[in-house]
Amino acid sequence: MRLRVTTQKNTHYHLSTFPHFLTHITYYDLRTSTNAALSHDHHTTWLRNSYLEGTILAGNKHVRTIFSTMLSDCPIFITLNKSKTITMTNQLSEQFGPRDVMEYDVVIVGGGPAGLSAAIKIKQLAASTKQEISVCVLEKGGETGAHILSGAVLDPIAINELFPDWKELGAPLLTPVTEDRFLVLSEKKSYKTPEWLLPSCFQNHGNYIVSLANVVRWLSQQAENAGVEVFPGFAAAEILTNPDGSVKGVATGNMGINHDGTPGPSFQQGMELHAKYTLFAEGARGHLGKQLIATFALDAGRDPQTYGIGIKELWEIDPKKHQPGLVIHTAGWPLASDTYGGSFLYHLENNQVAVGFVLGLGYANPYLSPYEEFQRYKTHPAIRDFFEGAKRISYGARAIAAGGLQSLPKLTFPGGALIGCEAGFLNMSRIKGSHTAMKSGMLAAESIVTALSAGRSHDELTSYGEAVTGSWIHTELHKARNVKPWLAKGLYLGAAMVGIDQIVFKGKAPWTLHHTHADHECLRPAAEYQAIVYPKPDGKLTFDRLSSVFISNTNHAENQPIHLTLKNTSTPVSINLAIYAGPEARYCPAGVYEFIKTDDGADKLQINSQNCVHCKTCDIKDPTQNIVWVTPEGGGGPNYPNM
Ligand SMILES: Cc1cc2nc3c(=O)[nH]c(=O)nc-3n(C[C@H](O)[C@H](O)[C@H](O)COP(=O)(O)OP(=O)(O)OC[C@H]3O[C@@H](n4cnc5c(N)ncnc54)[C@H](O)[C@@H]3O)c2cc1C
Ligand code: SF4
Repeated sequence: MRLRVTTQKNTHYHLSTFPHFLTHITYYDLRTSTNAALSHDHHTTWLRNSYLEGTILAGNKHVRTIFSTMLSDCPIFITLNKSKTITMTNQLSEQFGPRDVMEYDVVIVGGGPAGLSAAIKIKQLAASTKQEISVCVLEKGGETGAHILSGAVLDPIAINELFPDWKELGAPLLTPVTEDRFLVLSEKKSYKTPEWLLPSCFQNHGNYIVSLANVVRWLSQQAENAGVEVFPGFAAAEILTNPDGSVKGVATGNMGINHDGTPGPSFQQGMELHAKYTLFAEGARGHLGKQLIATFALDAGRDPQTYGIGIKELWEIDPKKHQPGLVIHTAGWPLASDTYGGSFLYHLENNQVAVGFVLGLGYANPYLSPYEEFQRYKTHPAIRDFFEGAKRISYGARAIAAGGLQSLPKLTFPGGALIGCEAGFLNMSRIKGSHTAMKSGMLAAESIVTALSAGRSHDELTSYGEAVTGSWIHTELHKARNVKPWLAKGLYLGAAMVGIDQIVFKGKAPWTLHHTHADHECLRPAAEYQAIVYPKPDGKLTFDRLSSVFISNTNHAENQPIHLTLKNTSTPVSINLAIYAGPEARYCPAGVYEFIKTDDGADKLQINSQNCVHCKTCDIKDPTQNIVWVTPEGGGGPNYPNM
């Protein structure tokens, strides 16, 4: 019997803590691709992003107890006779017997633009080559579209390729862009940038203002019409691997588990979905994608991924003030010039306006609250007038992967690939990622159909990576590669250099700037700043977090284990509160994290996990990376109508 421990990237394990019944240990370092024999004398050996294999002399039960205590944040697999994999951390498996297994040719995790476009393209190619290819899509939202939050101005380039007849098919692209305004705001004034000075990335003629959630609902319908099995309400919670390390599918999470991890009266065991190829399309900072990137060292030699948090509201405004097709972007106030961010305001159909704020998560001041900055922005004289007498309909937030080409990981690993914002295909200079997400899914689909036609399975889809490099995704991201790094250097220098980079050099400058730090490394101690006093909400134009979360229709099954897990329960107080004044209480747009006093006067972090809108900001920005977002029960989370 062999035992495999997949260690997490950047987490160190001391070999002396490994039990002595584990003998003949070897470790395989995924970064250097080397095997080495280890002994228990290796007390100073640190293992990083590697896996261990050894011979177990004790029984299953003993191993599980010891290992799950020792490496509680680390998935542990035991390979029995090289054929059956058991997740040791999932103690319920033994009690309730093996999980049901469903076999597909292709399993896709995530029913967003990327996942659904991949599924549709596979079915289109299968039909044209007369092949039977079974495809299923897992979506953690209660319905497809329920967890989709975007701007959104959609560049139709990908949907034109996927469905040249999308108009006849009734795709909800109803409002063509009619006017672009780019404003630089000071506290009281606004300055419109002349059109000739606007780089092409800020020009939107030919694009459509959409509800991306509705576009996704439409894509889901097209996928089902093509024979794809779409399973909303099912979160993929675990990656399954073959004995050779290739990905063989995913398992959905158990349902009906009590707060303490024991099975409740409505307990239902998760299901295994096995596939010849598995595509991961969870969007920015995917829970499983993060594990794959670490396990297969997909980010080796790449810049760290950087993110933004996007916070959005949907309003119904006075028809007299509504101008369908109007697109407004702003930079400047209320942010300090060294903080990267800006707003969007899009006039859709039906007197609706989507208004939102995107703030780079590489900010340094721990007192900054992205939510409060957004509320403040709406009070600007150039903006507030749109909302006089208007009604707020919905609210939500979601992280954006903003690193672009420099941060793009290797896309493939044996048995699968990353697509869409899971990989990080968003073009931050345009705040657009749905078209690249769709196209990446379509390119992965082509690679899969070629592989399946050749009778292949569980190997690496190298032609997908090559196809991306040869596609317009690469051309577009290459042109945009310096925009975010320049703007991260401050608004004024950044704007000047973006002008030179985009207007003079047209994105072909002979330099490439790099992202040097992950966002969580950028936070500075609170002692270096003064607390920011934000204005109180008026309940008409500006709102508190809880009334905002209320209209996101967020809900999680009660009594389930908290899905915002802490690697170390004392860190929030001993480090986050002590050094950074508890930033999670401010960067979380849903008020999930609260520092409270216990009866004996001690500080304590309270996690109101039922409010979580799945934006992933805490997983990204927590300064010590102590917070790990894991999938809650399928169907939980926001229920966005048309965001
Ligand atoms: C505020 C904001 C404004 C934006 N504006 C624009 C814009 O104007 N134009 C534009 O083109 N793009 C815009 N974007 C970006 C755009 O929304 C994304 O690029 C696009 O949604 C990426 O598609 P995706 O399919 O890769 O991921 P997503 O759209 O994030 O979809 C991922 C799906 O996977 C599901 N999922 C995740 N994990 C699991 C799991 N483990 N199991 C099952 N299901 C799972 C999620 O619930 C979700 O439905 C904006 C984004 C934000 C946040
Ligand atoms: S808990 Fe984390 S993922 Fe959930 S809303 Fe808050 S910051 Fe976002």
